[in-house]
Amino acid sequence: MGADRKLENWDKLLEYYQALAKSSNRVKLVELGKSSEGRPFMALFISSPSNLAKLDQYRQLNAKLADPRGLSEAEVKKLVAEGKAVTIQSFALHSSEVAASQTAAEFVYDSLSRSDEESMRMLDNVISIVLPSINPDGTQMIADWYMKYVGTPHEASGLPWLYQKYAGHDNNRDGFALNLVESQHIAKLMYRDWLPQAYMDHHQMGSSNARLFIPPYAEPLRPDGDPMVWREINWFGGEMGAKLEAAGKTGVIGNAIYSGWGHMGFHWITPFHNIAGMLAESASARLATPMFMHADQLRGGPRNLPEYEPQVNMPSLWPGGWWRVRDIVEQQKIVGWSVVDLAARNRETLLSNMSLKASRQTERGESGRVKAYAIAAAQNDPLTVKKLVNMLLYSGVEVQQAKASFVADGRFYGPGSFVVTMAQPKQGLVRWMLGRTFYPDNSYTRDKDNNPIRPYDMSTDTFSEFMGVRSDPIGEKIAADLVRLTAKVPLAGVVASAAPSGYVLDGRQNDSFRAVNLLLDKGVAVRRAGSASADGGVRAGDFLVAAGDLTGIAKQTGVDFAALKAPLTTGAYDIRKPRIAMYQRYGGGNMDEGWTRLLFEQFGVTSKPLMDAELKGAGLEAKYDVIVLPADSVAAMTGERPTGGGGGGGGFGGGPDNTPPEFKSGFGADGVKALQTFVQKGGTLVTFAQAGDLAIQRFGLPLRNVVAGLASKEFWCPGSTLRVRYANTNPLAYGMPEEGLALFMAGSQVYEVTSTETSQDVDILATYGERDILQSGWLLGEQVIASKAAAVSVKHGAGRVVLLGFRPQHRAQTHGTFKLVFNALLNGPPK
Ligand SMILES: [Zn+2]
Repeated sequence: MGADRKLENWDKLLEYYQALAKSSNRVKLVELGKSSEGRPFMALFISSPSNLAKLDQYRQLNAKLADPRGLSEAEVKKLVAEGKAVTIQSFALHSSEVAASQTAAEFVYDSLSRSDEESMRMLDNVISIVLPSINPDGTQMIADWYMKYVGTPHEASGLPWLYQKYAGHDNNRDGFALNLVESQHIAKLMYRDWLPQAYMDHHQMGSSNARLFIPPYAEPLRPDGDPMVWREINWFGGEMGAKLEAAGKTGVIGNAIYSGWGHMGFHWITPFHNIAGMLAESASARLATPMFMHADQLRGGPRNLPEYEPQVNMPSLWPGGWWRVRDIVEQQKIVGWSVVDLAARNRETLLSNMSLKASRQTERGESGRVKAYAIAAAQNDPLTVKKLVNMLLYSGVEVQQAKASFVADGRFYGPGSFVVTMAQPKQGLVRWMLGRTFYPDNSYTRDKDNNPIRPYDMSTDTFSEFMGVRSDPIGEKIAADLVRLTAKVPLAGVVASAAPSGYVLDGRQNDSFRAVNLLLDKGVAVRRAGSASADGGVRAGDFLVAAGDLTGIAKQTGVDFAALKAPLTTGAYDIRKPRIAMYQRYGGGNMDEGWTRLLFEQFGVTSKPLMDAELKGAGLEAKYDVIVLPADSVAAMTGERPTGGGGGGGGFGGGPDNTPPEFKSGFGADGVKALQTFVQKGGTLVTFAQAGDLAIQRFGLPLRNVVAGLASKEFWCPGSTLRVRYANTNPLAYGMPEEGLALFMAGSQVYEVTSTETSQDVDILATYGERDILQSGWLLGEQVIASKAAAVSVKHGAGRVVLLGFRPQHRAQTHGTFKLVFNALLNGPPK
C-alpha cells in the first residue's frame, strides 16, 4: 500500500476487508449503513476471538463507565477490572488526503496477522474499532480519478467536484448537526454505542513545513471539557512522538498548527463526550505522485511553528528530499499502533479515567453556575425546537420534557418544554451546543502586531443559535414534573378533522415550506396570506390550502394543517411551483453549493444544477424563475481566477493547474451578461454572502458592501452569530421573528444604499442593531456594521436580486434563517 502512483479504490478495498473477515477470527466486519451515494459504510471490530464473542457485553460495560451515575466505587472497580479498552480510529475522511485509505488496509492486515507480544497484548486488552473509510464515496472517486490520469499531463490534478457529494471537505464540520448519513453512522457508533476511551482521525495537511502533526493541539483551548481529556491527549501524543522518533521519523511536531479550539468535527467534539479525541496530519505528496522538497522550501507554519528550526515540540527536522505516499502510510501505521498499544498497556487506567471524567463533569454541572438549559416548547418555529432536541438525543445527551408548565429563573415555560440538565457526563457538549460562546481575544489569538488570528474554523458553534431556538441558562434547580426522553420526539403533524373554509399552515415553521413544496409537486393549489386575518387566526406569510389528501404530508413533515376559521377574502395570493436552478462549478466544487443542495433535498425544493455551458447560453428567463448563486468569489465563478482543484483543504504544495480542459470552470463575461438579462426580464437572482459582488459590481446595483477591504483590526467577525432585526412584513422575510440572529463569516457582506435616485428600488430585509450586536463568537469593529443592512432585495429591470449578505443556510445548520432562502424561491404577491 502506498506505492508510487497507485491508489486502490473503495470497491477493491471493501473486497479486501471482506476477504480478511472470512479468513481471520480476530475481526468482525460490520456494515453500519450506506454512504450518501449508497456504498457500504463499514466498521471493523478487531480483538481476540474470545473478546469478539462477548462484544455486546463489553459494549454495555463500557457504556456504564461512560455514565457511572448510580454506581458504587466497588462496582466501578469491578467494571474497570473486567472491561476492555475501546479505541476508534477513522481513516480517509478527507478523500484527497489519499494515504489513509491505503494505510487502513495494511493496519488491519497487521492487526490480524502479527503474533508478536505487542499485537497479542492489543488483542487481549483492546477492542480496536477501525473505520477504514469514513467517506467511501470519496475514496472511490479520488482513486478512480487519479488512476485515470496517471502518466498523463493531468496526473495529480484535483478532482473537479466535491469528494463528498454534499459537503466536500466540510464533511468533518458535521459532528453535531449530523446532516450527512455518514455522520449519523459515526454518531451512533461513537456517541451512543461505544464511547471509546480514545478516538484518532488520520489526515494530511500541506507540504511546506512539518512532516507530521501529532497531539496535543496548540492554544487556544476550548474549555469546559474534563481536564483529564487534555492530559490523555498529551499522553497519547507523547507515546506517538517517542515511537516515531525511535523509528527514525523526523519532522514530527505536536502542540502546534492545530488549535485546541477547532470546529465541532469528530476529533474536536469528542473531548466534550469525555473521549480523548485526536488528530494526526501528515504532510501531503501530490495525491499518490511523489513530491520533491528542497530544504530551503521548508518554512514555519501557524501556531507555535514560527521558524522551520529544531524546537521542543519538533526536536528533529526533516531535511527535505522526496516525499511519497508510502512515507505517510508508515507514519500513520506507527500512530495507529501507538494508540492501541497505549490502550493495551494502560487498559485499567483509561477505563478508570473514563468513569472519573464522567463523574467529575456531572459534579461540575450540579454545582456550577448554570444548572440546566430550558428550551420552551412554544417558540417561533416549534418543530425546529424538536429537531434540536432530537439532535441532542442522537448525540447521547440526556434531555427531559416537562409534563406541565413551570417557572425557572422567573420565566414561564409551557407544558412540553424541554430541560437539559448540566448534571450529566456530557455537560461540556451541552454547554457548547446551547450556551452563549465568546471566542478568546488575548495574546494566543493575536499576532505580534496585535492583528487577530483567524480561528481554525468558526468562533462559535452554538447550535441553538444557529437553529433560531432560544435555550435559556437556568441558575437554579428546576422544580418541574420532568420525564427523561428515551426516544426521538415525534414530528408527526395532524390534519384538522373539519375545515369547511380550508386549512392554514404556520408560515413561521421551516417545515411548512417543505409541506408546500410537496403539495405543489402533487399539483395541489397553495395560496399565501399577504396580511393577517381579522380574527387573528392567520398571520401574514401563512400558507392556505383548500383541500387535498393532506394526511401523508402532515405525517411526513410534522406540520399541522389547522382549520381556517373563515375564508380569507383579501390579501392572499397564489403560490406557483418555482423553476429553480443553482450555479454549480468545477474547480473542486463549491461546498456552499453542496450544502445548499442538501438543504433543498431535505425541504423538498426542486432545483437543477446550472453549469457554465447552459448558464452562458441564451434564454435562462424562459427556463427558470429563480437562479441561486451560493457563496463564492466573483473570480471563481467567472473563471478570472483559476480555481485549480483539490476539493478544498489538504493543499498539495501548489504547482500549475493541470486540470483537464473539459473540467476548467468559469462562466466569464458572457455568463454575467446572461444572468443580468435573466434578471432584467423578470427573473429572481439569489446570492449568498460574497456572491453578492457579482450583482453589485457587474450589474451596478446601488449598493456598497461596507466591510469590503477593511483591515482585520478595523473589522473582524469570523464565524459568529450577530443580532439582526427582520422586516417580517416583507414577503421575503415572512415567518421570521422581529429579532433574530444571522451567521456572519469571512466573506459575508453588509450593505449600504449608495444612490438616492434609485433607493426606492431597494428593500431592506434585515438590519444589524445599533449596539451589542454580537451574540456569540468574535466581533471587532461593531460600529462599522451598526444599523446597516444584512440582507436586501433590489429591483433590477423587471426582476430582482435578493442579496443575503450572511450565510443563511451555512452547512445546512442555520435553521433559524432557512426561511429567508425559502421565501426568496417563492413568488411574491402580484404587483
Ligand atoms: Zn483532513
